[in-house]
Amino acid sequence: PATSQIRNFSIIAHIDHGKSTLADQFLLKTGTISARDYRAQLLDGMDLERERGITIQMHPVTIYHERNGVRYELNLIDTPGHVDFSYEVSRSMAACEGAVLLVDASQGVQAQTVANAYLAIENDLKIVPVLNKIDMPAARPDEMIAEMEQAVGIDGLDVLRCSAKTGMGVEDVLDAIVDRIPAPPGNIDAPLKALVFNSHFDSFKGVVVYIRVMDGTIKVGQKIRMMQGAREFTVTDVGQFRPSMVSCGTLSAGQVGYCMANIKNIEDVRIGDTLTDSVNPTDVALAGYKQPKPMVYSGLYPVNNNEFEALREALAKLKLNDSSFTFTPESSEGMGFGFRCGFLGLLHREIIQQRLERDCDLDLVQTAPNVTYELLLTNGETRIINNPQEVPDAGSIQEFREPFVKINFLLPSDNIGDIMSLCADRRGTYVKTEYLSPTRAVLIFEIPLSEVIFDLYDKLKSITRGYGTMDYEFMGYIPGDLVRLDVLVHHKRVDALSIIVHRSQAERRGRKLILKLKDEIDRHMFEVALQAAIGARVIARETIAAIRKNVTAKCYGGDITRKRKLWAKQAAGKKRMKQVGQVEIPQEAFMSVLETD
Ligand code: GDP
Ligand code: MG
Repeated sequence: PATSQIRNFSIIAHIDHGKSTLADQFLLKTGTISARDYRAQLLDGMDLERERGITIQMHPVTIYHERNGVRYELNLIDTPGHVDFSYEVSRSMAACEGAVLLVDASQGVQAQTVANAYLAIENDLKIVPVLNKIDMPAARPDEMIAEMEQAVGIDGLDVLRCSAKTGMGVEDVLDAIVDRIPAPPGNIDAPLKALVFNSHFDSFKGVVVYIRVMDGTIKVGQKIRMMQGAREFTVTDVGQFRPSMVSCGTLSAGQVGYCMANIKNIEDVRIGDTLTDSVNPTDVALAGYKQPKPMVYSGLYPVNNNEFEALREALAKLKLNDSSFTFTPESSEGMGFGFRCGFLGLLHREIIQQRLERDCDLDLVQTAPNVTYELLLTNGETRIINNPQEVPDAGSIQEFREPFVKINFLLPSDNIGDIMSLCADRRGTYVKTEYLSPTRAVLIFEIPLSEVIFDLYDKLKSITRGYGTMDYEFMGYIPGDLVRLDVLVHHKRVDALSIIVHRSQAERRGRKLILKLKDEIDRHMFEVALQAAIGARVIARETIAAIRKNVTAKCYGGDITRKRKLWAKQAAGKKRMKQVGQVEIPQEAFMSVLETD
């Protein structure tokens, strides 16, 4: 089709505001799928996402919508809805001219609504504001529209109202996409220039490259190359997502779809790269995007050391479809051989662990997560640290820098004071407060990322009784008074339990940490000493008394259910134990480093 009959857009929303449901309605209303073939959240690719009810990224889809007698081709390119994946949001936005900004009529504007709306504005996208779930009795459309005006500066009169559940108002949203979002620019006669916005590895077909054509045409048989790579490929298939892959032979300027070209190696395709004709190439590559850098690291160890190779294979397989995940072998005295893994954030980390356990049937122990640090050494060298064990002697460090983020909270106004003091406790710097209404506000802080990955999200949820939300973006590395805190169990340093902390918090954190450990580690036949230390200086100590008879002894006189509970706990604990010297340490102990209080 001519570019004037194409519209490319994404849906941006806070989690649970109805993005997947609205996408499903688009497919139904445009006849892309029949009601008979329909199953909920069709575009949410991975089972795990469906299970958890969160979307990391939906498949793109091409739908057709008729407006004033003209048939328009609409391409929906999804953006992920979680902070961990915000880099993918801008990546998808580069392939679109507009975005549907979806807000739940009972929940109103939330942290990711604000964050994603700003990203869309920065990317010059035309915003189509939509209020969803107007069928709900709790819907308060007028109030929520006022919030949208206040938070993202849109005109309330432009806001459409719909119910993605009942289908009410959905046709109007499709009409508005055609009417308000500009047609893609682009010249069909220019040399091929296409943006690679995603890819996946299929074990039968090889690499499937997701493209948005900017200029020219791509066809089967054409010789192509990636601007950042030297190799040439011959196109074997070109098609669209409808929503399954359907061949169409060619794609031209403005269109979105996939191409395959016997690419065997996913590393040959860089997301953000420009794909062009190898004989008649375009002269300027597209701006591309930065490869996201993992911000959170933790060690991953097989419970059985002989499963190390199996774990390596499983990680390599995972990486095929998730280039933002990294892993390198490491060994730890306490834990044996395993891998240091890098994640975009805590949710990403949790998802990877679940995938590994489910798909590969491996029992894993994961060490407490830490952020990435930057060290300026006295010899002038700058070094990136992913692991507390890599921190050199204090004497050779000139500057110890940690990542800071700008965090925004959306809160009931009543909770502002509590969140302010929570952030202040965690070394945050107050930036500003903005009221969306008398009862709700946006609060902005600058805060170390390490303080966020502890349990800030859980704290926010409990303080606001579930009503608060947050989102953050990386600012940069800032110098701080940081030290490595070590843990000794039975006089043996457990390297996997070392953490990097701010000096002012070292004593408090060290004490809490060993108290937690005391709870987590079962009694042994001998007394177990627990110590927290900075260098050679012990700052806290505890002991676990020796066992006398069997563990159930302390339940004598107690009821049988208590005993059963204890046995169950022991059985569960057996699955994930690590032997450190003579002491058995359960997985929970490694995790306990995570929580601050
Ligand atoms: P996503 O996280 O943005 O993809 O949200 P989902 O599409 O998964 O929707 C979250 C929940 O809201 C699901 O239980 C949906 O059934 C429900 N939902 C979505 N749209 C509507 C709507 O218009 N009305 C009502 N009542 N529920 C909705
Ligand atoms: Mg969803």
